[in-house]
Amino acid sequence: MTTEALVAEYFSSGTLAGLPSGHFIDGGFVAASGGRMMETFDPGASRAYHSFAAGNGDDVDRAVAAARRAGREWGWTKAGARGAILFRAAQIIRAEAGRLAVVESLDSGKTLQEAEGDVAGAVRCFEYYAGAADKIQGDTFPIGADYIGYSIEEPVGVTAHVIPWNYPLSTAARSIAPALAAGCTVVAKPAEQTPLTALMLADILLRAGLPAGVCNVITGTGAEAGGPLVAHPDVRHVTFTGSVATGIRVMQSAAANVASVVLELGGKSPLIVMADADMDAAVEGVLGAIYENAGQICSAGSRLVVERKIHAEMVERLSARAGSLRLGHGLRRPEVGALSSAAHLVKIEGYIEGARTRGIAIAAGGSRASDPENGKGWFFQPTILDAVSADDPVVQEEIFGPVLSVQVVEDEEEAVAVANGTDFGLVAGIYTGDFGRAHRMARDIDAGQVYINEYFAGGIEVPFGGNKLSGFGREKGFQALRSYTRTKSLTAKIS
Ligand code: NAD
Repeated sequence: MTTEALVAEYFSSGTLAGLPSGHFIDGGFVAASGGRMMETFDPGASRAYHSFAAGNGDDVDRAVAAARRAGREWGWTKAGARGAILFRAAQIIRAEAGRLAVVESLDSGKTLQEAEGDVAGAVRCFEYYAGAADKIQGDTFPIGADYIGYSIEEPVGVTAHVIPWNYPLSTAARSIAPALAAGCTVVAKPAEQTPLTALMLADILLRAGLPAGVCNVITGTGAEAGGPLVAHPDVRHVTFTGSVATGIRVMQSAAANVASVVLELGGKSPLIVMADADMDAAVEGVLGAIYENAGQICSAGSRLVVERKIHAEMVERLSARAGSLRLGHGLRRPEVGALSSAAHLVKIEGYIEGARTRGIAIAAGGSRASDPENGKGWFFQPTILDAVSADDPVVQEEIFGPVLSVQVVEDEEEAVAVANGTDFGLVAGIYTGDFGRAHRMARDIDAGQVYINEYFAGGIEVPFGGNKLSGFGREKGFQALRSYTRTKSLTAKIS
């Protein structure tokens, strides 16, 4: 079925045929043990369109037991064979990209073209780690002629993956693919707002040849399904992406079992534009950095740090562009899609009301919006808050929406100080025409990744993760594999 036919099916019937609704445990879809279901919503029309299993601790126990049983065989499967299965999964994802993108757009509210980009990113993830599987190797140690010493990189065992709602498929792919490549087994828990594409991914992996039980998906709320998963004594590693508060709780649960964690907790990332930058490129860069996925990106460039000489021109150009961006239901391919939930819209609105009360100038947007065709949906206008002081909540706190805060600086030194002036340290962007300055500033910025002259440059090859409250550990690249392996050293006397 073509993408257009799927979109037409949704708009005429109000749902899509064949969507998954059970957990995926031990190689198949199963009902929740308690029999309870939850609804998933179309944010572009603010209506429920499908139900899925509301999991609990019993479901988690079943999934972890399946993952544990499957672990020994998968861990000892020849690495090249593991890679071949991941490569087949990449091919199936590519073949079914249209359906995955439509479901992702519908479930999350993002535009269809963004969802298509996410699916392409998931393909790259599986290709990359397919190739990496047979390159995970140990060392030898020079401990004398009478000894041999070497190490094996073993899989850590059962791994838990707690997935957020902003990039449901691509975040699932970027942690599940390296875990499987390393020989680990998986229990994933997608966000309750966006449960569907992780379930579809588990089914694709099975069809690609992954043995039953190696990849399981439990759906449900964070409290009822996520909590028991990250606290499970048989889970040896947790990769979590989401809020700081939940990340701290997850780390505490994992600590009780001395399980390792990678935390990817979002940010308040600065995008510095110096007066010597290419202004056209900078304007486009800032717009993409904050309005992509309606600003619901952990690494969004949510603070524009701009040199005073170009401040007025930048804000004028950005406001004109922000005001002209076309909002709408994701499946209509607008420029900006809906927010993930009604609760999230209310949270964003609260930040803007607060800014208004404190007298902050709103250079663009500032209000709720709706899909122009159905008059519904959870939308917020692309918004710009101008000349905000460094200690204001809209500068210090993650809004996670289409809201750009502008901070004005005098020079390079102040730009770096302002960039570093929050508790977060995920990424930063720098636009400047001066190569030396770009690298000086990048050196001094406290962040896990710095983009120069193109925000979001890079892909699965580049390690990603944050400093300070943005978390620790790295996903993507070869570094991600470190979370899923542990070193066993072997030493032997031979004469
Ligand atoms: P959250 O951190 O509560 O949820 C993220 C994931 O964690 C979901 O799958 C959720 O079900 C699960 N979860 C929740 N409580 C859990 C628990 N006790 N144990 C295990 N898993 C649990 O985030 P949210 O409430 O959906 O969003 C709140 C804010 O978090 C957003 O406004 C945004 O600022 C931030 N956020 C950041 C990212 C990111 O990419 N870093 C993603 C989503 C949300």
